[in-house]
Order: sequence, then structure tokens, then C-alpha cells
Amino acid sequence: MEKELQLIGVNKKYKLENKQTFQALYDINVEFDKGELVSIVGESGSGKSTLMNLIGGLDSDFTGTIISGGENLKKLTDKQLDKYRKNKIGFVFQSFNLISHLSILDNVTLALTLSNVSEKEKVEKATKILKRVGLESQIKKKPTQLSGGQKQRVAIARALINDPEIIIADEPTGALDSDTSMQILEILKEIADSGKLVIMVTHSEKVASISSRVVEIADGRIISDTLNEKYQKTTQESTSNPQEEILQPLPASTRKGKKSKNSKDKQNLSLWSAIRLSIHNMWASKTKNFLMAFGVAIGIGSLILMMCFSSGITDFINDTMKSYSDPTIVTISKKGDSDKPFGSFDYNPFDEDSGEITTLYDDINKYLKDEKGYDFEVSSDNTYYGFNLLSIFSDAKVSYSPSGDFNYSDAETLNISYVYTIPPYYTEKNVIEGEMSSTPSTDANGYIKKNSDGLPEEGGGFMFTKTIVDLFGGEEALGKKVEISFTVPITNAEGKTENFSFDAEDTICGIMDTSVMSQLLVVYVDYDYLKLLFKEKGQADFFAPTTIYVQTPSEEITDAINEYLASTNAYTGSIEDQLAGLFNSLSSVIGTSLIVISCISLLVSAMMILVVLYMSVSERTKEIGVLKSIGARRKDIKRIFTSESLLIGILSGIFGIIFSLILAGIISIVLSSLIGIAPISFRWWYFAVAIGVSILISMLSGLYPASKAAKLDPVESLRRE
Ligand code: ADP
Ligand code: MG
Repeated sequence: MEKELQLIGVNKKYKLENKQTFQALYDINVEFDKGELVSIVGESGSGKSTLMNLIGGLDSDFTGTIISGGENLKKLTDKQLDKYRKNKIGFVFQSFNLISHLSILDNVTLALTLSNVSEKEKVEKATKILKRVGLESQIKKKPTQLSGGQKQRVAIARALINDPEIIIADEPTGALDSDTSMQILEILKEIADSGKLVIMVTHSEKVASISSRVVEIADGRIISDTLNEKYQKTTQESTSNPQEEILQPLPASTRKGKKSKNSKDKQNLSLWSAIRLSIHNMWASKTKNFLMAFGVAIGIGSLILMMCFSSGITDFINDTMKSYSDPTIVTISKKGDSDKPFGSFDYNPFDEDSGEITTLYDDINKYLKDEKGYDFEVSSDNTYYGFNLLSIFSDAKVSYSPSGDFNYSDAETLNISYVYTIPPYYTEKNVIEGEMSSTPSTDANGYIKKNSDGLPEEGGGFMFTKTIVDLFGGEEALGKKVEISFTVPITNAEGKTENFSFDAEDTICGIMDTSVMSQLLVVYVDYDYLKLLFKEKGQADFFAPTTIYVQTPSEEITDAINEYLASTNAYTGSIEDQLAGLFNSLSSVIGTSLIVISCISLLVSAMMILVVLYMSVSERTKEIGVLKSIGARRKDIKRIFTSESLLIGILSGIFGIIFSLILAGIISIVLSSLIGIAPISFRWWYFAVAIGVSILISMLSGLYPASKAAKLDPVESLRRE
């Protein structure tokens, strides 16, 4: 009958530096069978551990043949070798190699965790096995709370959890006193008696004498192989012995029944289990991890803070600009010929007679209806004109005489920037005092009928903004005479520029209220009256509005019209809009620079994570070796380290958010008390970005350490002191 384990002509050479090799095993031919308790003895350095590693599938770099349970190890893929270690082999080490941050239960069930076995099943199996080694009461303890003998029993329980066929114990009693050694040996013996193959390396003659067979190795060769004739299977009389249960077979589900085996093979370490393992490990070195998370949080927090500053400044500018403008008014000017940022001072006037204004209205109305579904229509009922005096006239003044009788020596003179036609909408909404001006009566020739004072017989008059009227002495100015004078540079027939003066005298007939910044120094004149005035002076050509104002019923419609105008690329908005646009691009330049600077601190954070995780890999080399010995695949190891990066990322992100909130609070209090404003605005998605960036950074920095961990050679890792 085929033996459980056969080694045929096995040679092992270690590769040394400079292409040299060292041969540790020479032509090993040996067979072992189930039920045997084999002692491997020999001097230190004779090749015992090397042999164990080959049998255990930790090292597949050998020549010759090893057949274990009918499988040729040479022919197994890496994946199959992982499974072989997980299901067929149980390792027990001299230095126990328990994972100190995991409980006894978690240590014992590690191999099941790697197979994604349910928590309930794990606890059930572990309890049974810990009972077999007499440790059921210690299940919740940590390895450091146990004695050496107890630790080794935990290690044996861990080796047994997957019901392996072969137990490999490399000097299991080497670190124990002789009494404890005997107890451990007793357990191993009973495992062998239950039908397993137990191969143990030992230095102790006493230990060797208890085993069923002693194989001696010297300088990589087997020099003797003797059966112990006195070896007795644990007798049936020992039923009263508390360790009797060891003889009992394991529950059916853990045995190598075909069905359960298959399902076990398919399942791997779940993400959740990996995260749980990571949490345990991170908790074990919590100070280090918290400090690191704090460090990263500074970077993340400053990123959030910079984003908040950037949007705070933008918000502040927009709010300020908004407070100076009316959100229900659309300002339309034709773009000038120049590309200057303030093209507003270089308007091309609209030509009323050409029909371009009605065409524009039609286009806007079509867009509003077809694209947006609004019924609102732009028409002369809701529009008024602005005449930008700064662009048309070289000089525009209003002179006002407090006495009412015009005498230039005591007149107050004020420069004005705009003449507006009286907005139809303003008639009810914004006239504070006085009557709406109206068109004066005209004579047969279409000229204004004047009285002896030179004022229109009926109608006429100018309205001013409250700002101007206040400068003229408040409401007392109502009804008093003012003179408006414009100086217009025109080119004469000889090609010379000469100034043409234009002036009109009339009474202040009303006060307009407006908070719009650019509309403070404005005189309002009835549309027809204004046209008449231009005509009377023989300058009807100058009656060309530079701006059209549309009074809309809502901010949405304002936005919709502005959207249309922007798409035509032929019009500009109000000065406020243009200023806001300029400030916004300035603040986004500043904001972007701030964010770039804070990204540099994130780079520092990333380096820190990389270093810490990298060091953690070296610290945990042994643990990684143990994980591999119980069948962890590279993927599993990678997953454990990756989930650690993930946790660090989440933790740092949360800390970063808290950090930024605290700092933002302090900064706003300080700024508010110093300069009266706190330009910090939070957007909810900044937090999502922060967590995202934090996770991304730590995952990226964790990639290299994780793959390094996954690639560690288990034999080397386990050999580490
Ligand atoms: P034992 O377990 O019997 O003390 P080992 O199997 O650990 O001996 O080592 C056998 C021999 O192989 C020793 O001479 C040791 O120095 C050598 N050896 C072990 N591992 C390596 C390695 N990774 N590279 C080179 N030589 C090694
Ligand atoms: Mg050794």
C-alpha cells in the first residue's frame, strides 16, 4: 500500500550570493506512514528544518520527488501548494509563532478565517480542539497571557484545526522545560495514534525515545533510521485520562469528506475578515497608527480648509456683488470692438431704427419658450434703455441751483454716468416721491411747447436717484430746476474734432430708489421726451441706447436670458457681472494655488504612510510566514495589508474632517473679530472628497508594502529571529 509520505532522491541546494550554492540535503530517500510519530534528530545545521520545509510545501525549490497523500508536490501550482498547506499540513514551531494581537480563538481559527468559514462554525471547531489540548477555558486570552506550554498547545490546536494528514513540528519542545515537554509530546503522540503522521524535530533524547521511529540526519544525509520497538500506542486503559478525547475523531464537517473539501477550497479570506484582522493588528500598535492618522489628517484637513477658503472668497465676492445688483434685471450691452476686460466702456450702441432690438427680443423670447418653457416675453413693457454717457459723451453734468433760479455761480455740479429712460416697471415699484415724468406736449413741428421760463408747458421733467437727490439737499430739491449738459466730441466736415454742447433745463419731478451700484448716478428721462430733446438739438443720431435693461419676474428667467446672451457671444452683462467674473477668476487662481500647496502636504502624508506600512511589513515578517505556513495565498496577505491601508485612509479622512472643522471654527472667530468677515464656506461634498483623497493616498502608498509582504519568502520569514 502507498505510504502517506514518500521522498525519493530529494536534494536541496540553497542559492548563495555570487551564484554559489550550498547543498543542505543529499539524496534523501525515506517513507513515512500514517500513525507514525517520527523524531528527526541531528546536530544543529544538519538540514532538519530544511527537510521539514520541503515536506510542508513551504519550499518547493528542490530536486527529486516528494509524494504526499498521493500528490506530487513538484507538480503542484503555487495555488495548489497554498491549499496543500492549508488543508493537508499542520505546522508547529519551536517559538510557537502565535500572533500576539489576536486572541487564542482567533489564532486557532486563522486557517478557517482564510477559508471564510462562518463565525459560528469557527467557534464550534476551535472550542472542540482547544478542549482536546486542555485549553477550553483560555479561549478569550491573548498569547502573552499564557505559559510556554499553553502557547505550544494553542499552536498545536491551530495546526489541527483543518484536520490535516501530517503534523510537522520543528523542535516543538525546544523552548519548554522537561515536564511541559512531556505534556506536549503526549498530545502529539495521541494525534499520531489517531491516525495522523506526526514528524517532529527534536534535540532531546528523552523526547526521541518516546517516538515510534527515529531518523538521524548528519550533514544533509540520513545516517540512521530506527524503529522504536518499545513504542506503544496510547493504551485503552487511559480512558480515565482527561486527554482521552484527543483520540476521538473530529466532527464530520472538518474531515476530508469530498463535499466539504470542495466548498472549503473555493472560499478565500473575505474582505470583512481581512478588515477584522487589520483592526486587531492596528489596535495592537494603536499609538503608532493614531499618530500616523493624525499626520495624514493634517494634510487632508488643510486640503479641506483650502477648498473652504477658495469657495469662501468666491461666495463673499458673489454675495457682495449680488447685494449691489438686482437679480431680476438683465443687462444687455453689445460687445465693443476691443478685447479689453472692461469692454463695457467700449460699447457699440444699439440702432433702434434698424430693428436689431426687436430681433434680439424675438430671439430671446423664442429661446425662453422653446428651450426653457417660460411664457415671459421681453418687450417694451418690461425694458428700458441706458445711455452710457461716459462712452458717448466726453463730459456729462447735472447742475442744480438750490434757489430754484438758475444761477451758475451758486450751482452744485455733479458728473453723471448714465441717462436712463424711465423703466415702465419702476413706475409703481421704485418711485419714492413725486410724479412720473411724462412726454411734454409738442407743437405742429414736433417741438416741445415751452412757457416763458423755457420749461415745457406740460409734462417733462427729470427724475434722479435718491443718491443724487440727497446730494442736492434731499426731498426739498423736488420741483426745482436742474440743467443737464453733455459735451459731445464730433468730427466735422474738415476731419477735425470739435466739441458740441448739448443742454436741457427742466425740473426734478421724482426720486427713484435703486441699490444697484452702477445705477446710482443716473438721470431718468421719459423715452419720448428724451428723443424730443435730442431732435430739438438737431442730434437725433445720438439717440442710440448703449444698454437695454430687462425687468424679469424671477431670478430663474434672468438666468435663462443671461444663458442665451452668453451663448450668442455678442453681448456683455452688467459691470457688476463683469467685475464678479474677474474677481471669481482671480479667486479661483488663488484657490487653486492654495489647493496645490496643500497637495504637497498630502504627498508628505503619503510618504509617511509608505514608510510606516513598510516598517510594519518588516515587523510582521514572522506573522506573514505563519500565515503562509497555514495556507494564506499571496492575495490574502495583500488583502490584509490593503485593508489596513483602507482603514488608515478612512481614519485619516475622519480626523482630517474634524481637524478642518475645528480649525475653520477658530479661523472664522478670529477673522470675524479682526476684519469682520470670515470667507470660509463648506460644501458637503468637500468631506466626500476628503475621505476619497485620504483613502486614495493611503491605498496607493500601501500598494508597495502590501506587495512586498505578499512576496516574502515564508521560509526566510519563519527563520527570522
Ligand atoms: P537544522 O534545522 O538542522 O538546524 P537547517 O535545515 O536550518 O538545519 O539548515 C541546514 C543548513 O542549510 C545549514 O548549514 C544552514 O546554514 C543552511 N541554510 C539554511 N537556510 C539557508 C538559506 N536560506 N540560505 C543558505 N543556507 C541556508
Ligand atoms: Mg532547525
